[in-house]
Amino acid sequence: MITALYPGSFDPITNGHLDIATRASKLFDRTVIGVFATPSKHLTFTIDERVAMAKEATKNLPKVEVIPYTSITVEFALEIKATVLVRGLRMVGDFEWEFEMAMMNQLLAPGLETICFMASQEYQFLSASLIKEVAGLGGRAKLSKFIPPVVYEALKKKGLTKK
Ligand code: ADP
Repeated sequence: MITALYPGSFDPITNGHLDIATRASKLFDRTVIGVFATPSKHLTFTIDERVAMAKEATKNLPKVEVIPYTSITVEFALEIKATVLVRGLRMVGDFEWEFEMAMMNQLLAPGLETICFMASQEYQFLSASLIKEVAGLGGRAKLSKFIPPVVYEALKKKGLTKK
């Protein structure tokens, strides 16, 4: 039984993240979306909000679970018995950082393999931060290509969508 951990801040979860989780769930017995509670960046959503959105967005993916964590990623991976770390690679910008992290994680937890999925074409330029920037400009129909309905509702509640 192979458990894969897909870690990130998911602030908020986007269709790009969901694409990676869905594809991972076809390869592994269990894919855990690990929502890191305290990343060193400015957050829009609380840990409970990020977890709730990710759970709602993945409720139709039976092999995907959502679990928050506060420890370092490799420790959490060991805790849930994950042997694979899943990451997504967009064409521009992700490679160096992902490579650095994979190397560090390899030193910290030999045997835990990082597997990167190439982002799908339609999500190459999609990021959680860009969504937060454009939400104020686009309506529900436009944004639905990039975020699940639960995220649109959450952005709306925070007053971050088009009035
Ligand atoms: P982090 O805080 O680690 O940057 P994110 O939630 O932003 O967490 O991203 C988690 C992972 O998902 C990273 O590997 C990131 O490269 C990947 N990712 C983010 N957006 C996309 C996307 N549009 N398509 C594919 N992978 C993505």
